[in-house]
Amino acid sequence: MTVDSPDPKSVSRVAIVTGAGRGIGAAVARRLADDGFAVGLIDLDEAGAKAGAEAITAAGGKAVGIAADISDADEAERAVGTVADELGPPTVLVNNAGITRDNLLFKMSESDWDSVMGVHLRGAFLMSRAAQKHMTEQGWGRIVSLSSTSALGNRGQANYSTAKAGLQGFTKTLAIELGKFGVTVNAIAPGFIATDMTAATAERVGMDFEEFKAAAAKEIPVRRVGRPDDIAHTVSFLVSEGAGFVSGQVIYVAGGPKA
Ligand code: NAP
Repeated sequence: MTVDSPDPKSVSRVAIVTGAGRGIGAAVARRLADDGFAVGLIDLDEAGAKAGAEAITAAGGKAVGIAADISDADEAERAVGTVADELGPPTVLVNNAGITRDNLLFKMSESDWDSVMGVHLRGAFLMSRAAQKHMTEQGWGRIVSLSSTSALGNRGQANYSTAKAGLQGFTKTLAIELGKFGVTVNAIAPGFIATDMTAATAERVGMDFEEFKAAAAKEIPVRRVGRPDDIAHTVSFLVSEGAGFVSGQVIYVAGGPKA
């Protein structure tokens, strides 16, 4: 049995990127705008989301910046509804928002654990649940979630690595459930990407960020750390029409085969 896919030209080209106020999410939002999507940029930080949307609009694209905490069910629903009202039904969702609360297990608090699960797992669940109805109605959709090489295990990140491994199971299950509606679901697992998140890790371990990046690059086969655009490029591929037979996959984008 085959699934009849709608004419790609008739499908709403509207994308949502969470955590789009800076870092990887900001680069993904810019790239999807360049690819012709109207983009809803969602972030806790209203100024960051709105600045990203204004930059896209100034470059000739369509975008809206929305402040929302994606780990809150009402705020996630409201944010998706605002994108649908202002730009049209969203058919692409990039679950990118993330936080770290690193600590060794014996020092990890319940709040370190709960807040990381809340943003990565609950947030991706709430946003995907809210967005999927638009995708299934359109008969076409793409969900991409940001996992991490930390899913394979990383000292000081019991909470984060658990959440990032959980997102891989979430991805594979949604791929099975939503495939018949023309919706593909994939995850990207980045290695070291230079952003505020990795700068904060350098600070935590007491290293200068430039030295931290240089030390990381020595261990990476391509001999450099990643850039947000490396991830944006991979998202662009996964949400493209031509990637419609790629689903339930985790693509490690780490400059080599290992974390
Ligand atoms: P980042 O620079 O820290 O940006 C994360 C963004 O998410 C921030 O703008 C943050 O808002 C937003 N955010 C956090 N909690 C949120 C919430 N509850 N609701 C809405 N927005 C929220 O991080 P990044 O390095 O770009 O990372 C992006 C994603 O890639 C994350 O999922 C991260 O785990 C993953 N990743 C990153 C790396 C890396 O090396 N950088 C590697 C593997 C995976 P505020 O500015 O208000 O805090």
